[in-house]
Amino acid sequence: MSETFTSVSQEEAGVPERVRLSFDLDADICVIGAGLAGLSIALEAARLGASVAVLEGRHIGWNASGNQLGTVTPGFALPLTELIERIGFEDASELWTLSKEGADFIRANATEENMPGIGLTDGVLEVSNVDTGDRLISRLQMLNEDFDTEAEGWQVDRVRAALKTDRYFHGVYYPKAFQVDGRKYVHGLAALARRAGARIFEDTPVVSIDHSGIRKRIVTPSARLRATHIVLAGNIHLGAPLRRLSETLLPVWRYAGITASLGERVHEIVGFKGSVMDSDGVDHFRIVDGDRLMWESPETTWAARPQRFAGPVKRRIRSIFPQLGNVEISETFGGATGQTVHGMPQIGELRKGLWVASGFGRQGMNTSAMAGQLIARSILRGEERWKLFSPFELVWAGGTTGRVAGQLVGVWGRASSAAAGSLARYRERVRMKDREREARLAEANRAAGAGQRRPSSGVRPRMAAPPQPPAPAEAEPATQEQGVSQ
Ligand SMILES: Cc1cc2nc3c(=O)[nH]c(=O)nc-3n(C[C@H](O)[C@H](O)[C@H](O)COP(=O)(O)OP(=O)(O)OC[C@H]3O[C@@H](n4cnc5c(N)ncnc54)[C@H](O)[C@@H]3O)c2cc1C
Repeated sequence: MSETFTSVSQEEAGVPERVRLSFDLDADICVIGAGLAGLSIALEAARLGASVAVLEGRHIGWNASGNQLGTVTPGFALPLTELIERIGFEDASELWTLSKEGADFIRANATEENMPGIGLTDGVLEVSNVDTGDRLISRLQMLNEDFDTEAEGWQVDRVRAALKTDRYFHGVYYPKAFQVDGRKYVHGLAALARRAGARIFEDTPVVSIDHSGIRKRIVTPSARLRATHIVLAGNIHLGAPLRRLSETLLPVWRYAGITASLGERVHEIVGFKGSVMDSDGVDHFRIVDGDRLMWESPETTWAARPQRFAGPVKRRIRSIFPQLGNVEISETFGGATGQTVHGMPQIGELRKGLWVASGFGRQGMNTSAMAGQLIARSILRGEERWKLFSPFELVWAGGTTGRVAGQLVGVWGRASSAAAGSLARYRERVRMKDREREARLAEANRAAGAGQRRPSSGVRPRMAAPPQPPAPAEAEPATQEQGVSQ
């Protein structure tokens, strides 16, 4: 079944009318937040037999969870090599396994029977902006042999046969990674959680919690709830219930656009069917609805209306695939992700009965599903695998100053990625010139009957001057669109 990205509102998705909590209630587990994290926990806990109440301040999938691309890959936002450096090979390997279990959870639940129109398809391609052949091979070996993850290395030619652009070099193809309609998935999760017995209350912000006793108290504007466990899954908007926790997250808003129909020519230019992501986290795209491009790229550290990013998305598409011309962006969407200082999610028990599941950053599909399994199973079965996340403590993200610094770091990261891309393309041009030169030299030698010998007179054949490296101003202005605020 092919993906359709046209029906995302609650009514269109056949979602039941919103119910607000208007009476006092008792539950085993109270989950704050009906995004991917909160709903995954609710589903798993309800299936394990707990009584679960989910309290959502706005509506299901209101933020990032209802406005994302639905690409599911193993691992974390933190690159694997850095994960190993920080916690060692053994623990990194266990965490990687957990992240794959998160992806398996989604695959098992996102069936057409459970979630009509979810459109699960296999295969994700990660492409590099720079020429990294050697590094790629060692990474592939590690993934295949040490981390039991199927991954296939694509040479530059193969990447460019699939994607008609000289922006990308090598690629890693993950045949078992997949994508679903990201904006439908969160509603599908809610439906499954309800079916398993969880109760979900929308328009019900939690304004305070008292987590000191065995039975904890949760206060909303119109009712109170008592529960043995509270799970904080409010991401950056958690606010009053535990403000210090919100301050450990750096909010980063990410935006995406979907083009109007592009016709058959899009398939000639973008020949890969699944999601494509570049290894610097700048662009992320795939074809949806048969011939439309869905493209995620710009980000800010302040809230802005997604409509403002139609232009930047269009320019980004044009800079990667100029052959597509001036595409029309017919839809935009976006949401805030919460990024931690160390780059890993926050999963665990803060004090007895008070749990946290947040900080999933830009890779929240598999990781929030993993959090759901870990927390529900800890509460209900006494499993303690969440402790693998203990080395990643709650670190203050620096309030406003830290957020500005975060934006600068993000801007720098994207600019340096663009500059590295320009340099890699420059080097490639030099290599091509070298190859042409060698061919001309061999031809000249053959013509002179001198085999592979160099010309004897000490006079070398004339060579074209190598192209000059690009001036800094030529580097792709990947961040030019970032300064748009509301
Ligand atoms: C444009 C975009 C594309 C993305 N694409 C991908 C992708 O392809 N693959 C991938 O893995 N990840 C992707 N992500 C990242 C992913 O969407 C997030 O990591 C994930 O959705 C975070 O889920 P969450 O449940 O933690 O947070 P949220 O979605 O923010 O949900 C938290 C919920 O808690 C509620 N809440 C907060 N405080 C309270 C309170 N006090 N009382 C009641 N309710 C409260 C909020 O209203 C909100 O609905 C993307 C993100 C964006 C923005």
